[in-house]
Amino acid sequence: SKVLVSGANGYIAIWVVRTLLERGYAVRGTVRSAEKGRFLSELFKSYGDKFEIAVVEDITKDGAFDEAVKGVDAIEHLASPFHLNADDPQEIIGPAVKGTVGILHSVLKNAPGVKRIVVTSSCAAVLTISKEPRIFTEENWNEQATKEIEEKGRNAMNISKYRASKTLAERAAWDFHKENKSKINWDLVVINPPFVFGPAIHDAPTINSLSTSSHQFYDAVLVEGFKTNEALATEGSCWVDVRDLGEGHVRALEKEAAGGERIIISAGPYVWQDWVDVANSLSPSPIPSHKSLPRGNPGGGKNAIHLIQYNTEKEGKILGLKYRSKEETTRDTLADFEARG
Ligand code: NDP
Repeated sequence: SKVLVSGANGYIAIWVVRTLLERGYAVRGTVRSAEKGRFLSELFKSYGDKFEIAVVEDITKDGAFDEAVKGVDAIEHLASPFHLNADDPQEIIGPAVKGTVGILHSVLKNAPGVKRIVVTSSCAAVLTISKEPRIFTEENWNEQATKEIEEKGRNAMNISKYRASKTLAERAAWDFHKENKSKINWDLVVINPPFVFGPAIHDAPTINSLSTSSHQFYDAVLVEGFKTNEALATEGSCWVDVRDLGEGHVRALEKEAAGGERIIISAGPYVWQDWVDVANSLSPSPIPSHKSLPRGNPGGGKNAIHLIQYNTEKEGKILGLKYRSKEETTRDTLADFEARG
């Protein structure tokens, strides 16, 4: 069967495409320009006509996906802005919400064969920031960021603009499904990942062109002094390897029981010192061009208080992923940075 993957040239989506192709699916990937499509066509050329590109220039335009959705059986929707430099919150919220609702409208109009739609939301749509450690589940919704945007507009924190975009886009997807229930043949699965690390296979020739999460990993683990010892030992979140997340997206299509579910996919918590320690422990170094790596305060993360953790029982029951270790992810991520120079 044929799967449409939106934003196919992105860090995560390209792993979703690759995993789908490896499993025998035909894939149509949307990108914003033919130029961006060429990199993908080259990368996946061994799959012949099982991989094709559809150019969707502006996902915020009405009917943007009308052509791209024709004839597909399922959708993986990942196109959405992930950056922390928007002034106007609508710069992020607009494409996140309109892109999500737009693709669903196009399916309603032109793709009666679609049986399942997987929307990539985020743990950003789950968590609430507080000083107390907390374990979140799929029952939890981040209402904090949307409220901050309502109150402060452009003066809200930039991370809140992104978080609000994920809450609002996810909410819009569930609402659309509910409101159109009698007219549609598909069920909805929403995936909520935390920070995503691991090697990149998309067109990101320099460190600056990496996805926001990879860039944060680079800065914290490789740039001496970027974070103080105190920050390394206390700041963190939860994470998942991009390859495990790719696998999770495929299982979200295949597992019957995933239908109608919001699913957190997380390998566990970290503070940055954990990654720094792993990076220093690897021998031989996967990144020999960096003669020495920041050390921070070795072991300083061992007793860290993890403010944010996720209960992944649902994922275990429905998807049953096996997560890569911090060692494997660090080794492969650093080797990838080395290759990019
Ligand atoms: P990338 O920035 O690598 O990919 C984003 C994709 O969305 C690209 O294809 C990009 O196209 C497209 N896109 C962004 N803005 C627009 C826009 N205005 N109009 C059309 N297309 C747009 O990010 P990731 O791969 O990291 O993120 C993919 C998805 O996963 C997003 O929905 C993100 O919110 C979610 N996510 C990411 C996490 C992470 O840690 N990386 C964690 C949790 C969720 P182009 O290249 O042309 O800009």
